[in-house]
Amino acid sequence: MLTACEEIFLLLPHLVGMRVECMEVRDGLVMIEASTPEDVLVPCPGCGVSSGRVHSRYGRHLADAPCDGRGVVIELSVRRLFCDNRECQRVTFAEQIDGLTSRYGRRTPVLQQMLAALGVVLARALTAPGCVCPARSWVFRMRRHLR
Ligand SMILES: [Zn+2]
Repeated sequence: MLTACEEIFLLLPHLVGMRVECMEVRDGLVMIEASTPEDVLVPCPGCGVSSGRVHSRYGRHLADAPCDGRGVVIELSVRRLFCDNRECQRVTFAEQIDGLTSRYGRRTPVLQQMLAALGVVLARALTAPGCVCPARSWVFRMRRHLR
């Protein structure tokens, strides 16, 4: 029998290893508050030496793949860590979580892959000879609004 927390990881496997503190529906969105555990060591991107010495924490807001038709936002508390290697030029660095975050990324890789696949499908549909795809007129209307 799985605990409620383990069931969350069945639905959201990219959160495995994270500490999920809250999951609720707020303003029509599924909001997930999560953080990285304190005891996990992270390699410095500059020198590769692992560190777990915390400088500070900060919040990130990541858009995730929809769940049951609702948008999902992960409010993630991540650590800024010290690099203790005296030969490394980095003093601190922000941790990245495999499968969940990327530098300056505001979407999870799962959502990014879904949007990329959707873009490919739309591009193929719109460039097909004799395209009468309803999305074609929608895309052109959206382009006008973006100018
Ligand atoms: Zn380093």
